Amino acid sequence: MNSIRLSKRLLAVASFVLQDAVVADIGSDHAYLPSFLIEKEIIKKAIAGEVAQGPFDSAMKNVSRNGFSEYITVRLANGLAAIEENDGIDTVTIAGMGGSLIASILNTGVENLQGVERIIVQPNIHAKAIREWAIVNGWKIVDEKILKEDEKIYEILVLERGNVNYDDLELLVGPILKVEKNEVFIEKWQGELLQWHQVLKAIEQASETTETVKKIEEMQANITMVGKELEQ
Ligand code: SAM
Repeated sequence: MNSIRLSKRLLAVASFVLQDAVVADIGSDHAYLPSFLIEKEIIKKAIAGEVAQGPFDSAMKNVSRNGFSEYITVRLANGLAAIEENDGIDTVTIAGMGGSLIASILNTGVENLQGVERIIVQPNIHAKAIREWAIVNGWKIVDEKILKEDEKIYEILVLERGNVNYDDLELLVGPILKVEKNEVFIEKWQGELLQWHQVLKAIEQASETTETVKKIEEMQANITMVGKELEQ
């Protein structure tokens, strides 16, 4: 068996999995994340859930090739339907998808989260959708990380149960990332500001509809809010 090497992004996700957790990795693709966690003896058991046949087959192949079939069960299932009651799952990981899709997976399968204590998500875009889902569903953000790999910026959010409220800025940029405000965070939001200004210019030149007026107002509010934050 070759040692399993993860991308910087997935390594960061793995770093938030607690010792001896029982993990369901949803949208597992090649099952790299659960395989790494087993190999490093961080966890003893995992479910790798996949909705698509191709990635499911890759996951099955990798798990079997590495001799992990006893520890990782690969299931062809949509979202949290991969979790069964007697699996004893306490941690869910969902990485490499859009934030809206991750929020919709969590929302659709909310009853399968009953024994779950920690959710670790890595949305490629629109992390705000997950923060909004969290506050509505009784989860709070206990940790966040922002990192850059291959010229792409990724956010990782760690949720545990709890009731909390976030303001508009915290929902957009992250309550913990906002306080930490590291270089990658500044680069991300300077880039977003630039894009918003460009989009705003384009929309303002288009004919006015109720929708464009709403979009313009929303963007102006975001520009002011994030601009102020970056000045501090
Ligand atoms: N999690 C891996 C990572 O971060 O590298 C793979 C990310 S890959 C871009 C997204 C995977 O999620 C695909 O294999 C896709 O088939 C799977 N996926 C998308 N929607 C899903 C759903 N509702 N349930 C389970 N898997 C899903």
